[in-house]
Amino acid sequence: MNVIKGKGVSNGVAIGRMKFLGKTRTGVKRIHSENSEAEMSRFENAKQQTLAQLEQLYQKAVVEVGEANAQIFEIHQMMVEDEDYLESIENIIRSQSVNAEYAVACTGDNFAKMFSSMDDEYMKARSADVLDISDRIVKNLTNAQTEDFSADEKLIICTDDLTPSETVQMDKSKVLAFVTRNGSSNSHTAILARTMSIPAVIGAGEQLLDEYDGADCIVDAFTGEVYVNPDKETAERLTAKREEDIKRRELIRQLKGKENITLDGKKIKLYANIGGLSDVGEALRNDAGGIGLFRSEFLYLESKDYPTEETQFAVYKSVAENMAGKPVIIRTMDIGADKRIDYFNMPYEENPALGWRALRICLDRPEIFKTQLKALCRASAYGNIQIMIPMITSVREIREVRKLVSEVQSQLRADGVSFNENMPIGVMIETPAAAIISDKLAKEADFFSIGTNDLTQYTLACDRQNPRLEKYCNVYHPAILRLIKLAVDNAHAEGKWCGICGELGGDVKMTEQFLAMGVDELSMVPSLILEVRDKVRKCDTSKLDRNILSDIE
Ligand code: PEP
Ligand code: MG
Repeated sequence: MNVIKGKGVSNGVAIGRMKFLGKTRTGVKRIHSENSEAEMSRFENAKQQTLAQLEQLYQKAVVEVGEANAQIFEIHQMMVEDEDYLESIENIIRSQSVNAEYAVACTGDNFAKMFSSMDDEYMKARSADVLDISDRIVKNLTNAQTEDFSADEKLIICTDDLTPSETVQMDKSKVLAFVTRNGSSNSHTAILARTMSIPAVIGAGEQLLDEYDGADCIVDAFTGEVYVNPDKETAERLTAKREEDIKRRELIRQLKGKENITLDGKKIKLYANIGGLSDVGEALRNDAGGIGLFRSEFLYLESKDYPTEETQFAVYKSVAENMAGKPVIIRTMDIGADKRIDYFNMPYEENPALGWRALRICLDRPEIFKTQLKALCRASAYGNIQIMIPMITSVREIREVRKLVSEVQSQLRADGVSFNENMPIGVMIETPAAAIISDKLAKEADFFSIGTNDLTQYTLACDRQNPRLEKYCNVYHPAILRLIKLAVDNAHAEGKWCGICGELGGDVKMTEQFLAMGVDELSMVPSLILEVRDKVRKCDTSKLDRNILSDIE
């Protein structure tokens, strides 16, 4: 057995034979041509043919993966007509007196290299897109056939990389999984694979040998592991894992599109917690009603230096667009405590969890905070973005945040940049102080979201990083439940809504209690959403076992 380690970008377990696809790039020869006009006109025809094909792909993708994900083919159409791209092709044809195929391939390679050398993860991922459109134009110029992926048996498709159009073109009923040597989790191919529920592992590198073609294989896209000629024990373990996954998918099939409503008619919103753009597919696949917590600090953690306004804007905009009008609650950076970042030059602290973290850093370093706020405000023009402030302990803090947001908005207004004038600003209730003064905070904030992870740590004086304290860290402690109830009641008294985005939000043992308390929204890891929906739909809050609540009241 050989084990190849890559990165899982679309969850699932697949068992079958490996099928290697040859390099998808078309080999292109440099041919001298004095007749530049003829080459330009060949190129123009191929360009028009490409635009028509991309329109067809767009229509196919709308049906298969939805409008938001299909937009990549509209972007491809725009790329084909990009002025710089066209200028480069024309320049190579005319100045080097060469054939159109060569000029297109050369331009595609140059642009791809330029994109992949950028720091910005989003732009890096565009490298595959420019290669995709260039290959398509070259194929149209040479009348080459697109590789046929159809086969009689279902196969695990292995290749260097897949372009978005190859992914959409494949006959999904014949594909068990994708394994690629290269690729990025931010790429549209990864997003499309997730949307189509096909397990996918990328970045398998040179360990993915062509000689494995036809070998038995198991892909565990949950861990990113690819087992070639698996032994008996591995096969048994992963077959069981696959069955478990199939059961979950069946639950998804049954519950997808159903309301989150109890037997006695109480409704609740179920949203997803995400760490970045790459989790959005999983949120949609599990039918999230929105994003309840986007931990934006991951953008900072993944980066070697402060992420620029443009980098952040591109990610927030993309998440908002993919969620197509559903709420996207983005928490401003929660740096500090266990999330330390070198380039923030944070001083040594005896008790970092009780230290300089989250909003405290943001208010002390407004120039960094305002970059994030500006990116968020700009992105608010592209969907239902709402911002949420972590680690609030006082009314003063939310007023300061509002002041900074107003400053940023005034600047955008003056620059003629559009944004949502009414973007909601909520606060996290994750310190006992915030819960206790939640009557006051509810007058200033547009909504509450309770961070039970930190609320537990601060209420019970238990460092959440310390495994020794596990037995003291009782998340069901009446003190915590009372604070939750207090925050919910105070939010409602001011006509605001209150959700829970800590781990307790996805705990089905608590769902019934939260419904009875009047919690309006629960946000959790995407994979738990349908299990909680199932629980909600079986609850009858009028017949509630009042054990926990009676202790609160
Ligand atoms: C929480 O504290 O419950 C929370 C959701 O935030 P994090 O876990 O990111 O600190
Ligand atoms: Mg927290």
